[in-house]
Amino acid sequence: MQTTSSFETLGIHEPLLAGIRDMGFEHPTPVQQQAIPRLIAQQADTIVLAQTGTGKTAAFGLPLLQQIDLSVRQVQALILSPTRELALQIAQDLKEMGKYLSGLHIATVYGGSAIQQQMRQLRQGVQIVVATPGRLIDLVQRQAIQLQTARWVILDEADEMLNMGFRDDIHFILQQATQRQCCWLFSATMPAEIRQIVRQFMHEPAEIVVGKQNTVASGISHEYYVAHAQHKFETLRRLIDFHPELFGIVFTRTKAEAQEIADRLMRLGYEAEALHGDLSQAQRDKVMEHFRAKTTRILLATDVAARGIDVDNISHVIHFGLPDDLESYTHRSGRTARAGRTGTSISIIHLHEMEKLRRLEKMLRIRFIRRSIPTGQQICEKQLYHYFEQLKQIDFSRADIQIYLRAIQSSLEGLSKEELIERIAAYEFQHLLKHYAQAKDLNVPLPEARPAYRNPSRQQASQVHEQSAEEWITFRVNIGRAHGLYKASLLQWLLDHTELPRSAVGKLIILDQYSLMELDARADLSSLQRLQNTRPQGLLSTAPEEIFLVKRRPKSRTYPGSQASSVRQDS
Ligand code: AMP
Repeated sequence: MQTTSSFETLGIHEPLLAGIRDMGFEHPTPVQQQAIPRLIAQQADTIVLAQTGTGKTAAFGLPLLQQIDLSVRQVQALILSPTRELALQIAQDLKEMGKYLSGLHIATVYGGSAIQQQMRQLRQGVQIVVATPGRLIDLVQRQAIQLQTARWVILDEADEMLNMGFRDDIHFILQQATQRQCCWLFSATMPAEIRQIVRQFMHEPAEIVVGKQNTVASGISHEYYVAHAQHKFETLRRLIDFHPELFGIVFTRTKAEAQEIADRLMRLGYEAEALHGDLSQAQRDKVMEHFRAKTTRILLATDVAARGIDVDNISHVIHFGLPDDLESYTHRSGRTARAGRTGTSISIIHLHEMEKLRRLEKMLRIRFIRRSIPTGQQICEKQLYHYFEQLKQIDFSRADIQIYLRAIQSSLEGLSKEELIERIAAYEFQHLLKHYAQAKDLNVPLPEARPAYRNPSRQQASQVHEQSAEEWITFRVNIGRAHGLYKASLLQWLLDHTELPRSAVGKLIILDQYSLMELDARADLSSLQRLQNTRPQGLLSTAPEEIFLVKRRPKSRTYPGSQASSVRQDS
């Protein structure tokens, strides 16, 4: 989120500046940069098209808080949200931003919770009401709230509200808010139903578009694993085991599937829970509480239940099967890589879903990278490495173990360091090692993603030479920054063990879990096979390397090329 502008230059005043400073916001995000000045300067209808997680709440929250009349305790703004979770999150964010405003009163009203208490809160007089549409209408019908006084109506995640069937409710609320001076509509996508609301209820709205519509956030890497139906659960389990730091949401198509997978994972000892519409509101609250606190590491959820989940630092979104439409894929994936962070969206698919995957690729203009389902050995290696790394990092200065050390040391007498490590590993990982001891390879072979040297295909090798035009061929190797790989060590590895001259090596991109290398199509790429039993220097982990052909692209210079720009320093 690096940018040159500041919240001051956007027109935000103290004490809101103090509020957002406490929240750790240093620079405005792109949506905030574009929306805030306009929403402060003009009392006009505005549409903002931006993805979830881009800082939308502050984009409307700050201008709103700045303009609310704090001396009057009547409803001045309505904020509609598709879900209770999002409503609570918005209200919480507004309270934090407005922490130093005296006389600010915000009510949050949503279904599934005692209405009397919400009515009491409204009676005390509030300026801002954050609501889910159904409950708001209920309150209107009970005459617990008057919408006529609202000057601002803000629709957050408008496309989600329509997806959830709130169309008529939104129409009703907009009709009731007769004195509204402006409607701010925030949405990630712009389906026809939203256009209809715009035509019917908004007056010459300005449109602010941040990023591309229907696009997923740029910090997300999209990966997929192809598995047979009977191996889908085991694949999921392997992926969870392969990512010891995983904190994520697994999306399923049905409530029953979410519950069943959660139950199976729990029985196996994973910190997993299900979130779906068959749970009572109190149960859903508990699940979300556990997830936010990270005592639940894996949330199994249906699309509907997961709407509006605003939890930061979600490392992975896993699609247990692809969703049917691109909007669902966008929304699911948008739960990770929030606030400029990075994240991974993993799809576990059947072979017959490949076509759907290609369609998503085309429509969303993203690239799915195929990855191989980790083998038992790779998983154990990763877990052991992670465990011993943690052991190295642990701060034991305050552990009250000193008084027991002598006794422990004497009981360990005679054991070498190697034996001790072996014993710790066997003790800590007995279940894992046992489970994966005989684990078979679950990968479903796919022609285009066969490793270039692991399963050398004559056809592929000859294709490389047949088409040896002015092209770069990109190869992916499954080692990256996380394994201790650097650009220099990757380059050295290539030059030391293959026939490739330096000028045949193009861009080298080191990513966290894997790296990409562009090689000249005219070079002798069969010599890549020699990398098989070697490894780049200084690697921290010993994952066996596999190299896949990823794509080709025409290049402008000829081979053998100029000695200069042979390795471009992109990262
Ligand atoms: P939102 O799209 O409003 O749900 O925001 C997504 C996440 O980004 C939340 O955790 C916000 O607290 C955070 N966030 C919003 N604006 C900023 C900012 N300017 N700087 C840093 N974090 C932000």
